[in-house]
Amino acid sequence: MKISRISVFQLGMPLTKPYFLSGGRLRFEQLDSTFVKIESDDGLVGWGEGCPWGHTYLPAHGAGIRAGIEALAPALLDEDPRSLDHINRIMDLALPGHPYAKSPLDMACWDLLGQSAGLALWQIMGGASALPVPVNSSISTGTPQEMIDLINKASAKGYRTHSAKIGGADIALDIERIEAISAALPANEKVTFDVNRAWSPGVAIQVLNSVTARDWVEQPCQTLEQCAQVAQRVANPIMLDECLHDFNDHLDAWKMRSCEGVKVKPNRVGGLTKARQIRDFGVSVGWQMHIEDVGGSALADTAAIHLASSTPEANRLASWLGHDHLVIDPVPGQGARNRNGFATPPTMPGLGLTPDLDLLGDPVAVYCG
Ligand code: MG
Repeated sequence: MKISRISVFQLGMPLTKPYFLSGGRLRFEQLDSTFVKIESDDGLVGWGEGCPWGHTYLPAHGAGIRAGIEALAPALLDEDPRSLDHINRIMDLALPGHPYAKSPLDMACWDLLGQSAGLALWQIMGGASALPVPVNSSISTGTPQEMIDLINKASAKGYRTHSAKIGGADIALDIERIEAISAALPANEKVTFDVNRAWSPGVAIQVLNSVTARDWVEQPCQTLEQCAQVAQRVANPIMLDECLHDFNDHLDAWKMRSCEGVKVKPNRVGGLTKARQIRDFGVSVGWQMHIEDVGGSALADTAAIHLASSTPEANRLASWLGHDHLVIDPVPGQGARNRNGFATPPTMPGLGLTPDLDLLGDPVAVYCG
């Protein structure tokens, strides 16, 4: 099997309402998503999606994906999409770094591998059955009462795990948020307080030692070194996210005893191939992981749910679904969806979904021999 054509589509995806991170420092209203269609010489079609969460969250932006693909796609033509490690080596040679631009291409190749093998991705990734994965809500920064109201709304939709976004300039308000949410949360629900790197180590140590926080604290500071300093001096388990970009970062995180868990996001680390390597490392060292994508429609969500579903339950926490925040649905009704607090990957070969071509419109770029 050889790659014969790569088509790239761009889609602006408005959020149902503005979303605030990091104490309101970061605001999002619309996502810029890139869909990739890879056709093979034997007639199979694979799909991938790359969608940064705006351009202020990570060193990634929508137009950057399409510029990266311009450099990567010609090198992939005539290669066998099923040879995933080979495909990734070609991409790393053609364009060092820029992992987020490689992710949709890698994802579409996984889709082709699954279809050609007649297997769903959760099976190729090591799962024994299409296990449902608990879903994780995402609670935008607000006053303590606004955040509790959002948690209650999410609970009504089946969510039992919540990611509460904190980390403002006002330390006293962050303490209030943590105390109020920890006290209001029912015993059978869980929360991660996601600081989105807003605190300095001194602030993190001060805040976290003056509250009784439930469950996990995520990405308290900007760098891995700063987070490691905090992890040594607080009681809560630490989850890391934005400071981890490649496998070596994860190795360093483990060596520095900086966390007890990580977010595994294909678009942040370069695709499903690299996310799976990190997932396997995380299982080896006993981490607990949220496996989900950075953003996107149910296509990107479903790819991540295949990986999450194939991960031992002891090592996976809940997965966030980006498509739950969107006005539009580019893969209408398909893929992994929240069903009373759980998302289950499709059992069809490959990713198991096809985008609505009318919604995607004409490709913005086509690469072929
Ligand atoms: Mg996070």
